[in-house]
This record gives sequence, structure tokens and C-alpha cells, in this order.
Amino acid sequence: MGRAPSGLGFSPIRVRGRRPTDSPQSLGKNGVVIAAKDVISTSTAVFEAKGLTKVYRMGEVEVHALRGVDLELYQGEFVVLLGPSGSGKSTLLNILGGLDAPTAGTVRFRDHELIGGDDEGLTHYRREHVGFIFQFYNLIPSLTARENVALVTEIADDPMSPEEALRLVGLGDRMDHFPSQMSGGEQQRVAVARAIAKRPDVLLCDEPTGALDVNTGVAVLEVIERANRELGTTTVVITHNAVIADMADRVISVSDGRIATVRRNDHRATAAQLHW
Ligand code: ADP
Repeated sequence: MGRAPSGLGFSPIRVRGRRPTDSPQSLGKNGVVIAAKDVISTSTAVFEAKGLTKVYRMGEVEVHALRGVDLELYQGEFVVLLGPSGSGKSTLLNILGGLDAPTAGTVRFRDHELIGGDDEGLTHYRREHVGFIFQFYNLIPSLTARENVALVTEIADDPMSPEEALRLVGLGDRMDHFPSQMSGGEQQRVAVARAIAKRPDVLLCDEPTGALDVNTGVAVLEVIERANRELGTTTVVITHNAVIADMADRVISVSDGRIATVRRNDHRATAAQLHW
């Protein structure tokens, strides 16, 4: 379906070959589960950002949100972007996700330059390749869980069914419930189902547990972790909560618009092992 947009030259055919996929009982279509760790060791960068700067101008005032960020993200890895409020994490995530453009710098996603293309190309990129999860769920209140997910699956190329996605996040028995009939954690799990139903190449999560208590936050992290492990989806989670960093393959600390440190965890904690 769809045309290749002119600007970025994205093919409407999705990149399948490099993606680790499923076991019979899991999510993908045509393979076996490959642990994220194994994938990283043999893969090249899915994303390569170079020299990213972002300056917001408000009248006379300039805010330097990013001050020259170089970053690579690898197939199947789980990355936590850690840093205090205002350090530039969301700005960086939004640029990687094609929601915002940098003031300067480049971003390559696989073989495609994201910056400098046209809107149609970016729309296609977001629709086919990127799953977003935000702090405040962003569900449509007048639609059921199933319908919220279907909004995405109806326009995606090769999605899983809304039912499959909702079962994956443990909401198989809540498909016909409206957001107002669900807890915050359940709503966020619907948002995760919506994000992963299109089998995105990258899952970008901006403070996904920021509005949740510990137990529901852990439950949400568990489904994000599951999508990362079973679908092999490159996953980036923004947080200011250092405990969450323990479940990452790599922890990238952001400070004042720059990457301050990059740390690799020898062992990933499971979401269930986290407590804050
Ligand atoms: P974080 O996600 O780490 O909290 P952000 O990327 O949201 O940080 O913000 C980085 C800096 O950029 C902050 O100083 C913030 O106030 C500023 N900023 C973010 N978005 C805008 C905007 N749309 N207009 C002006 N300033 C912005």
C-alpha cells in the first residue's frame, strides 16, 4: 500500500530482513526470537544522529535545547535516555521520531536521511516505522480500547490485529472498554498496544511511567520490555528515574543539551525487578 514519498525516498515496502521476529507464541511473523543483546552485537546502527542542535527562539530569547548531539542506536537495543527535566531529552526523541526538526545536524534512519525531506516523507516514516508512547496516553475518549488501536492498524502496512496487540499488553478482556473505564496504567497499556500494533522499527517512549504509581509503572514497563524482546523493536525510553535505567542495554545521560555519559549494563534488570 501507499506510494514512496518523493522527498525521503522511503520505500513503501517495510524493512523486514534485518528485524528479529517471533516465536510461534509471540508477535512477529517470520522467524525466531533473538534476544536484544545478540542482535546488538551483530548489527549496525539503525539511527545515526550527528551534530544535532536545536535552538528555540522566543522573541529575543534563545533556548539551546540541544548543543551538538551525536548518537547511534542499534537494532533491537533498549536505550534509556536519562536526565533532569529540561535537559533536552524530549527534543532529541521528537527529532528521532520525525516530530520535530533540528536547527542543525543530520539524522539517518537506515538508508534514509530524515532531515531536509518533505512532510509527506516524514509522515510516512512516522506512520510505518515509529511507535510513540507519551506520558499522558493520548487515547481518544469516545473510542474503545480496540477502536483506539484500530485507528493505527487501519492505516499501517502489515500490522497485527488490535486484538492481538491488546492481548499482548494483557488487556484481552478489556477490548471494548472506553478509556474512562480504565485505570491510568491500563490506559497506558492501550497506548503501548497502539504503538506496537504496527510492528514499528523503533519504539520511542517519553516518560511512559511519569504519571503512574510504582506498580502500574512496572506493569507498563513490562509490556514495553516484552515488545523489545519479542519483536526486537529498537526501544528508547526517556526518564528522569535512574532506577529504570537498570533495564536498559545502554544508558545515555543527557545534561544541558549534551550527551554527558553513555553506560552499558552488563545485565539488564527485568521490569519486575525494579522498584522506586
Ligand atoms: P526534557 O525532555 O529533558 O525535559 P526538553 O527537550 O523538553 O527537555 O526541553 C529542553 C529545553 O528546551 C528546555 O529548556 C525547554 O524549556 C525548552 N523547550 C522545549 N520545547 C520548547 C518549545 N517548543 N519552545 C521553547 N522552548 C522549548
